[in-house]
Amino acid sequence: MRQLKNIDKYRSNINIIVCGLFQSRQIKLQKLTADQKKRLKKRLVQSILSWYKHNKRDLPWRKTHDPYKIWISEIMLQQTRVEQVIPYYYRFLDKFPSINVLASSNLDDVLKMWEGMGYYRRARYLLEAAKIIAERHKSKIPSKYEILATLPGFGPYTCGSVLSIAYNLPYPAIDGNVIRLMSRLFKIESDITRIATKRTIEKTVVNLIPANKASAFSQALMDMGASVCKSVRPKCNICCCQKFCRAYNEMPNPEILPKKTKKIRNAHVHIAAGIVRNRNTVLISKRPENVILGGLWEFPGGKKERNESLDAACVRELKSKVGISAKIIKPFISIKHHYSHYSVTIHFFCCSYLSGRLNKSTAKWVKIDELEMHAFSKVHKQVAMKIRDGGC
Ligand code: SF4
Repeated sequence: MRQLKNIDKYRSNINIIVCGLFQSRQIKLQKLTADQKKRLKKRLVQSILSWYKHNKRDLPWRKTHDPYKIWISEIMLQQTRVEQVIPYYYRFLDKFPSINVLASSNLDDVLKMWEGMGYYRRARYLLEAAKIIAERHKSKIPSKYEILATLPGFGPYTCGSVLSIAYNLPYPAIDGNVIRLMSRLFKIESDITRIATKRTIEKTVVNLIPANKASAFSQALMDMGASVCKSVRPKCNICCCQKFCRAYNEMPNPEILPKKTKKIRNAHVHIAAGIVRNRNTVLISKRPENVILGGLWEFPGGKKERNESLDAACVRELKSKVGISAKIIKPFISIKHHYSHYSVTIHFFCCSYLSGRLNKSTAKWVKIDELEMHAFSKVHKQVAMKIRDGGC
């Protein structure tokens, strides 16, 4: 976001934005006066704001100007659908109603409130950032980009959304919906995973942000992308931007934009995990904080090695990860799960404890009815529920 430091420079450069609009209406750009360009840009922005005024989604975080609540909602909305976020948003704010309450909480409590939403790194960053804001910024979320960007979890999108929505400052908040809308509106045909394309979109949005209306405009772009300019079957026939839209006016099907290189998924990984019972308790261990799903509890296990059977892998992993010997009783359940760059199948085995002492402070024996008090990843939570219901 180097260019955001020179935001005024970009805001004054209206050629980038109007160029596309005039081309779509077969008017030669060089024949337009600066005033004409300005007026066209104004009409587009007004159309979007007017549409938003009458069609904005009724969402809980739209009813507040509290930067803390807006920050929480924006973090939750990254990678998670709106409908899923709403109950989490209410529960989270009920438990942590202010930055100070969040900052004085422990990671286990925060992860527990996040349980099931995935991408747990977001929760860890929230807690880390809240502690810094409470200690160094008098519990107030900074309104300067340069300061905000130094906080854990504050990437360009989070900075842009908090600054624009909560503080009404002219910073772009560019999520997938906005990228799609901009790509089509301005017929941006280059690969959106490229940095140069991202910069073009960013500049385009910055150029459009109307003075003193950054908050409404940011949310308007997000809502238009989510409910009108959808990835499949965009509603061009009711779109307020139809007459300005280059993809609509110049392409047989606007849906082909944005263009994106397909991700190559890495190999599938098989993991063996043990549900080790010892009288009326079961063994769980906590994942290290610096790995994926860090800080969450799980039934211990690890990757199967080449030419190794799954049950042998389970026994070996239990010995090496938590220091105990266990005997496999029977296979319990296998669950497949996709992450962004790879997929796994976790094979759970019912095991009985044989010998050995736990070699980690992060592993412990818990009663079955205590499982619910711990934060698990989605897959392990599913297994914990099955154990509670009498499985294994
Ligand atoms: S006209 Fe269609 S493609 Fe263009 S912005 Fe509107 S919904 Fe998207």
